[in-house]
Parts: sequence; C-alpha cells; structure tokens
Amino acid sequence: MPHSSLLTTKVYLLLGSNEGNRLEWFDKAMDLLRAGGCVVVAQSAVYETAAWGKEDQPDFLNMALCVATTLLPLQLLALTQSIEHQLGRQRTVKWGQRTLDIDILLYGNEVVDTPALQVPHPQLPNRRFALVPLADVAANLVHPTLHTTISGLLAVCPDALAVRKYEF
Ligand code: ADP
Ligand code: MG
Repeated sequence: MPHSSLLTTKVYLLLGSNEGNRLEWFDKAMDLLRAGGCVVVAQSAVYETAAWGKEDQPDFLNMALCVATTLLPLQLLALTQSIEHQLGRQRTVKWGQRTLDIDILLYGNEVVDTPALQVPHPQLPNRRFALVPLADVAANLVHPTLHTTISGLLAVCPDALAVRKYEF
C-alpha cells in the first residue's frame, strides 16, 4: 500500500463482529491494520449490542479505534476492505451476519462524499453502538459537519438499542 501523504491523520474506526470468535477478529484486524500502515493510538472498551437493522441474528461486539495513518481516505478504505476479506467476511445479506466489519467513522476533519466512501460516516449520529465506543476514545472531539461533540451526539441519539460493556 503506497503512502502518498507525508501528513499523519487521526482516524476513528469502528470494528464490528457477530460471527465466530468475535474478539479474535478484533485482534487480527488490529494486527493487519498495523501491518498496513496504521498506528493504533487508542482503543475503546468492547461493547455488546443486539443487531441493528436486521434483528434475527447473533449479537454484535463493537470496538472503536483511534489510528494514526498517512494513508489517504480511499487507500484506508482499500486496506479496511482487504482486511474484511482476509478475515473471511462474506457479503451476502445486507446488514447480515459478518465476521468483521470495519467502518471509517471519522478521518481527521475531512469530509469525503463519493459513492464508495462517505466520511464522516452518515449513520454515526443514529447508532448508539458506534457512538458509545467512540465516546471512550473521543468524547470531546467535535464532529466536523454537525459541530457537536461525540458525547453531545450521544446525549441526543435517537437509537434505543442497549449497548452493554462486554466483560471478558
Ligand atoms: P454497513 O457497514 O452499513 O453494515 P457495509 O460494511 O456492507 O455496510 O458497507 C457497504 C459499503 O459502504 C462498502 O462497500 C463501502 O464502499 C461503503 N462505505 C461508504 N462509506 C463508508 C465508510 N465511512 N466506512 C466504510 N465503508 C463505507
Ligand atoms: Mg461496513
């Protein structure tokens, strides 16, 4: 993966899994992110949430990461998608069961709006399972287009699904 920028950007990722050894996918994903040119600066606790959107499936674990990288947004998406594929994700059903999902929540203060990539992640304010872990590592960060902190977004999030800390 080429490094086309000399500048390091702080990026926030959300890992999700509801199939197989969910914690093991997170460990492997972090190893592959490091191998692909990301420094993991901080990680949230792990949270468990009932599946969102399509409810007849196992519960999800989610974890947010803060990573520093020189990869540009689309290069980072290529890396995260290659990691999803390496870890066996099969895209069959929309919002269906998956070994590993990696969403790019925020890429510095940048706004990207292309068919392949939208950042900030458009669903972030609507998903408690993303905001709760993100608040662990970035509670006071101001969202680049909503101009509200992550904890402020959490306080008004309409999503009613419970997000429980996962003890292991
Ligand atoms: P979801 O994460 O909503 O469950 P998927 O992981 O299947 O859905 O993502 C579907 C598509 O979303 C991917 O092919 C990717 O190109 C696109 N996408 C757009 N914005 C983002 C983003 N910020 N992070 C990750 N994928 C994104
Ligand atoms: Mg995804």
